[in-house]
Amino acid sequence: MTATPEQLTIAAKSLWLDKKEFQSFLNVLREGGYQIIGPRIEQGAIVYGPVDRVEDFPLGWTDEQAPGLYRLKKRDDDALFGYAVGPHSWKRFLFPPQLDMMRSKKVGAGWDMEPVPVETVKYAFLGVRACELSAIEVQDRVFLNSTFPDEYYQQRRRDSLIIAVNCTMAAATCFCTSMDSGPRCRTGYDLALTELIDGYVVEVGSVQGATLIERLALPTVAAVQEERAEVARRQAVEQIQRVLDREHVQSTLKQRLNHVHWDDVAARCLSCANCTMVCPTCFCSSVEDVTMLVDQEVVRQRRWDSCFNFDFSHVSGGPVRDQTRSRYRQWLTHKLTTWVDQFGTSGCVGCGRCITWCPVGIDLTKESVILCSEAGLDKPQDSPL
Ligand code: SF4
Ligand code: SF4
Repeated sequence: MTATPEQLTIAAKSLWLDKKEFQSFLNVLREGGYQIIGPRIEQGAIVYGPVDRVEDFPLGWTDEQAPGLYRLKKRDDDALFGYAVGPHSWKRFLFPPQLDMMRSKKVGAGWDMEPVPVETVKYAFLGVRACELSAIEVQDRVFLNSTFPDEYYQQRRRDSLIIAVNCTMAAATCFCTSMDSGPRCRTGYDLALTELIDGYVVEVGSVQGATLIERLALPTVAAVQEERAEVARRQAVEQIQRVLDREHVQSTLKQRLNHVHWDDVAARCLSCANCTMVCPTCFCSSVEDVTMLVDQEVVRQRRWDSCFNFDFSHVSGGPVRDQTRSRYRQWLTHKLTTWVDQFGTSGCVGCGRCITWCPVGIDLTKESVILCSEAGLDKPQDSPL
């Protein structure tokens, strides 16, 4: 879409959205035909789901995170975005956990097969963090920029509006600064908000964003509000303590396939696949034909899969990676090293979800340090699989 001169003028400056006007902002999104997906509390966690009213948001709640630990806590203000990230990521909307692809019906002696049409839905993702913008970019490389683009992903991605929210706090599990993916939103959004106690500094990142926000006729942000937003954003940077030496890990981990520490991790890892389910970049799926007991119907479904599943590497004769040790090693080396060879970028954006949601608190930042060390390299060579 070509921007008009007025829209470009709007895009060049930041605007001020008063907190009292937030509902009007939601209304504008709805009137634009978007289904708004944002943060809400469900089952004791901040997850992403449909939001229409301010009351749907986790008003005044924050999250406390550590390896294997997630808790909601009350804040002493009414922030709507005063948390880090929860177990959900936006991939569950762009690349749903389960998708019907094809239906077959028994007709006489044969079968009628028809593809399930790609559902047209316009999402407005509200509350996308900087690391999640990077994760979407990583998945774009897999689903859009490959030889065989995924039409389901393509449609959802094309029609979605992305409203990012800059982090003003970080969890103890965050390490986006190490992965160069946050906490400041730099690109890939239509609108980006920084939340302050009395309102939002709004930055415009696209013509779609400019067109929508124009309907609210917002004032330009005052210098003092810009400064307050900068202080709030800096607070998130200062809170990040966790570090991953990205370049060292990328160059070293592949040479440590026989490190004794893989056994140590394997002794703790449950092979439960939680880390891959919560990871915003993991993209593996399998396809299964599900037979209905009535109506002689078969549905072909695509479902998220995981390299931690025993059958994931099944070839003729059995699975190639039949031990937890080799499955964890496959996951970590792919995430942090071979992903770069494959897609030109790391498969990790430093969101910390796999650390928080691992039931036994396995922490890739800590395991990588040990695995990249010289100590423990005396194990005899075995298959790198
Ligand atoms: S590997 Fe862990 S920290 Fe990295 S993007 Fe995936 S869930 Fe986040
Ligand atoms: S590393 Fe943790 S979350 Fe991942 S499979 Fe092992 S036990 Fe499950």
